[in-house]
Amino acid sequence: MKIFEEIESEVQSYGRNFPRVFNKAQGELLYDTEGVEYLDFLSGAGTLNYGHNNTVMKKKLQEYIREDGVAHSLDLYTNAKREFLETFKEKILDPRGYEYVLQFSGPTGTNSVEAALKVARNFTQREAVICFTNGFHGVTLGALAATGNSHHRKAAGVNLPSVVRMPYDGYMGDDVDTTAYLDKVLSDSSSGIDKPAAAIVETVQGEGGVNACSMAWLKNLYEVCKKHGTLLIIDDIQAGCGRTGSYFSFEEAGFQPDIVTMSKSLSGYGLPFALVLIRPEFDQWNPGEHNGTFRGNNLAFVTAKATVDEYWSDDHFSKVIKRKGDYIQKRLQEIVEKYGDGNFTTRGRGMFQGLNCINRVSSQ
Ligand SMILES: *Cc1c(COP(=O)(O)O)cnc(C)c1O
Repeated sequence: MKIFEEIESEVQSYGRNFPRVFNKAQGELLYDTEGVEYLDFLSGAGTLNYGHNNTVMKKKLQEYIREDGVAHSLDLYTNAKREFLETFKEKILDPRGYEYVLQFSGPTGTNSVEAALKVARNFTQREAVICFTNGFHGVTLGALAATGNSHHRKAAGVNLPSVVRMPYDGYMGDDVDTTAYLDKVLSDSSSGIDKPAAAIVETVQGEGGVNACSMAWLKNLYEVCKKHGTLLIIDDIQAGCGRTGSYFSFEEAGFQPDIVTMSKSLSGYGLPFALVLIRPEFDQWNPGEHNGTFRGNNLAFVTAKATVDEYWSDDHFSKVIKRKGDYIQKRLQEIVEKYGDGNFTTRGRGMFQGLNCINRVSSQ
């Protein structure tokens, strides 16, 4: 452990709780240098939906590298990009009737959130963005402003302006529709809340503690946004790519969001890769106005295309996720009934499930 403690910054986090050196991984299993096997519940915080070193993607990647496929290309046209675009359009967007243009931002989730916020602000010529209690959108300044967690926000060292925080679904109890409150304040010129450029929301809040909003609430949010000329950005970075049971986590709500951010399991292989889906009418960008050296990652184009071909060409995989999600939910519910003393609950959707625990350990 010595070298990590010696020269890695204090900011390092997970390794403190798992002081082992990991070396190999396959599927759901992780192995340390002594060969001890671990079941990987961390799952790359939602990045490894298809498992570690998924053999289908590994094969495609090995072929691509063996043949000297272009690895880095700024945003030039490459064959790998063409094939990803064609497959994503044909198998993901078209069957769902979604019309989007694709922006490849820098490779991390927060890069796509920054791009989404910027394009929404430029399009609407408004500044404020509605974000929600317990939301998490990344830690660069624009995305951090929209993030709820004070531990993260405090580290900014500057003001994080231009956001308005609203209660997420369920925050005020099950009986309160918080979108009605949003509609009320946006309809009232004396509420003190100016018309926002966008609202950014997760359908299941991941880092914020696995809070799932109802599809009715999401639909209401979309309607309220539309009424006030506010773009709805769904941050599907963690809940997307099948985790909740469908490719996009919002499909069941029956509308097409204005902007969608994606990353985490998008590449399917743990390779950094992020994407912004923008309805064509909001694609306000001028060429090169927003850039990034690593916008689009050719190795990730290859593996991301493979995820779509292998898992999303029909609805089989989606059905499997739903069945497994129901099973996880049932087993978690049994734990709650057995040990919960009426104090904890399960929550989530599909295979994005959590247990709401109460920490009784005294802080003394
Ligand atoms: C992880 C996450 C982000 C940030 O992604 P990074 O790759 O860590 O920048 C943004 N939004 C959501 C919902 C996330 O789960």
